[in-house]
Amino acid sequence: MTRPLHAMVMITALAACGAPSSAAAPEPEPASPAPPEAKKTIEKPEPEARTLEIQPLGDIGEKDIEHVRTSIETIFGWNVVVLEGAKHPKSAWYKPRKRWRAEKILDWLAPRMGEGADRIMALTKRDISTTKGEVYDWGICGLAEMGGPSSVVSTYRIKKKMGKITPKERKKKYLQRLRDLAAHEFGHTLDLPHCPTAGCIMADAQGTVLTFDESSGKLCDLCLEMLAEAGFPMP
Ligand SMILES: [Zn+2]
Ligand SMILES: [Zn+2]
Repeated sequence: MTRPLHAMVMITALAACGAPSSAAAPEPEPASPAPPEAKKTIEKPEPEARTLEIQPLGDIGEKDIEHVRTSIETIFGWNVVVLEGAKHPKSAWYKPRKRWRAEKILDWLAPRMGEGADRIMALTKRDISTTKGEVYDWGICGLAEMGGPSSVVSTYRIKKKMGKITPKERKKKYLQRLRDLAAHEFGHTLDLPHCPTAGCIMADAQGTVLTFDESSGKLCDLCLEMLAEAGFPMP
């Protein structure tokens, strides 16, 4: 599915680059031929907004969905489309711990992505888990497939470990964590690995939600550079 899309992007970019140079540029002097770099700029695709689909699962709230939507739009410059809500897939239910297996949700999610979309993310308020090292069922906040297409984000654990703060501060902290968690998992689907820069959204959570509280809410320059190299520059 990505191949025809890339081809399309390339064609529109060529058309967009070609038109202004012939129309606006002055006549080239015959004595100085165009430098070889000129060819390179023509081949470079123009940054174009891509589309992420959000798949709400179960009883996730409208406000949370909306917050994730605007966060991804702001941080990555993507279009975000919210799909009609669905039940958690039965295939992902892990009865012994009464929670949902994240990798099974990803398996179920990927084929649901629409034709015009580039990535898909499931949102749930229920607890999710996966296998981590020796631990078969390890509770997590989110899981993503490196390089895409799918990711899953759970709000269950980011409500915990808030410390002694006012309800207003709680709400603010929760929304910051949700923003950073969703952006972090989404970043993995764009092939971004964990980042050593302090405060970067892609910093390793080290298994605790408290890491999100040190986030700047932004991608560092290193990650922005990697995004551009991976073909996902900020538009
Ligand atoms: Zn990560
Ligand atoms: Zn970074």
